[in-house]
Amino acid sequence: METTGAFSGVTCRDCGNHYEPADVDCRCPECHGLLETVYDVDTIESADVLINGTAGSLWDYDRLLPFQESTAVSLSAGGTPLIDCPALAADLGVSGVSIKDEARNPTGSIKDREISVAVTAAREQGVEAVALPATGPAGRSAAAYAGRADMDAHVFIPSRAPFSVKAMVNVHGGDMTVVEGRYPEAVTAYSTEDRNTWYSLAPFETPFRVDGAKTVMYELVATLDELPDAIVLPTGHGTMLVGMVRGARELLEIGILDTMPEFYAAQPAGCAPIVEAYQAGADEIEPVETPDTICGALEIPDPTGGGVVLESLRATGGDAVEVSDHDTLAAATDIAETEGIEADVSCGVAIAGLARLRERGQLPAEAHVGLVNPGLGALDADVLRSHLMGKGI
Ligand SMILES: *Cc1c(COP(=O)(O)O)cnc(C)c1O
Ligand SMILES: [Zn+2]
Repeated sequence: METTGAFSGVTCRDCGNHYEPADVDCRCPECHGLLETVYDVDTIESADVLINGTAGSLWDYDRLLPFQESTAVSLSAGGTPLIDCPALAADLGVSGVSIKDEARNPTGSIKDREISVAVTAAREQGVEAVALPATGPAGRSAAAYAGRADMDAHVFIPSRAPFSVKAMVNVHGGDMTVVEGRYPEAVTAYSTEDRNTWYSLAPFETPFRVDGAKTVMYELVATLDELPDAIVLPTGHGTMLVGMVRGARELLEIGILDTMPEFYAAQPAGCAPIVEAYQAGADEIEPVETPDTICGALEIPDPTGGGVVLESLRATGGDAVEVSDHDTLAAATDIAETEGIEADVSCGVAIAGLARLRERGQLPAEAHVGLVNPGLGALDADVLRSHLMGKGI
C-alpha cells in the first residue's frame, strides 16, 4: 500500500491498538472498536499545507491525506465555492454568513470527498467490491467512484430516497438493493448480507471518510482571511462534523490556526439523538425509536460514530440544537428565494438551527457564521415545492 509520509496508520478508538493500514479494513480486529487515521503532523511544514485561494480538488491537500494524488481515485471533488449570504445574515441579525456549497461536487454532495478517499483506500487494499447502506447521496457517490476504480458497488438504500439518486446508482453500474422503509431497514438488509469480500464504505466503519470530510475545513481556512466564529452543521452520522473538527485540530497542531471555531450540530426534532445525548451530558447515543422527519439525509436514529461526534462537539465548546420540519422547510425555501442558493433540506436544518441559537442568545450579533450546504437542493424539489403549497403558493 502506497501512503503519504505523514500518514502513520490507524488506531482503535476503544483499545488504542495501532495497525498498519494494509492490515485492517474496517473496525478493530481485537475489540471491534472504530478505527481512526493517525498522522505525524510534526513532519509537515506549515508553509506546505494550504493552497491560497480555492483548491482545484481535495487532493491538493494530500500532504494531510493518507494517499497521494497520483494514486487517488478522483473525480476532482472539492474546491467548492464559499458563498456570502448578506440577506440571510441580515435576517438572522449576525455580521455575516458564508455557505460552503458542497452541491458542486461531481455527484452533487459532500459525500464525493469522503468516498473518493475511502474508495482509494479500498483500491489500495486490492478489494474488488465496496458496499454500504446509504440514505441516498453516499450511495450514488460510491457507485460513481467504484465504477471509476473498476470495482463493484453494493448499495442498500431505503425506498424513500429520491428517485434520481436511485436511478444514478444504476446508471453508474452499481448493484442496488432498494429496501422498503427508512435508513435503519437499509442497514438491516446490508448487515444480513454475507459481506466478507466487501470493503465497507459505511460511515465510521471505514476510518477514511472522515479524512475526506476534513478537507472542507482546509478549504475554509485557505479561502477566508478570518475563520467564522461558529460553524453550524446539519448532522446525521456526523462524518462531516467530525471531519471538519479533525481538520481544524490538525491545522492547530501545525500552527496554521490559533483558535478552534465553535461547532454546532443541528438536527431535526423528529430524529435528534445527538442533540439529546449532548444536552444530557452523555458519552454515548441513545437510539431514537421512531424517527420521523421530512429530512431523509438526517434520519439517522442510531449513528455508528455517535460517541465520536459528541466528543468532537464538546472539544470545540459548541452545542447541539434541534429544529422543527416546518422551520427547516421555511429556511430552505427562503434561502433559495433571497440568495438564489439551491440548499437541500438538511441545509435548511442548519439555517433554522442557527436562527434558534440566535433566539437563545448563544451567538452574538457580531458573529460570522459558516454553514455547509451538503447536497443538491433540487433533489428535494418535491418537499420544498409542497411547503409552498401549504402557504397557498
Ligand atoms: C451526508 C449528508 C448529510 C449529513 O452529513 P453527516 O456527515 O452524515 O452528518 C446531510 N445532508 C446531505 C444531503 C448529506 O448527503
Ligand atoms: Zn480495539
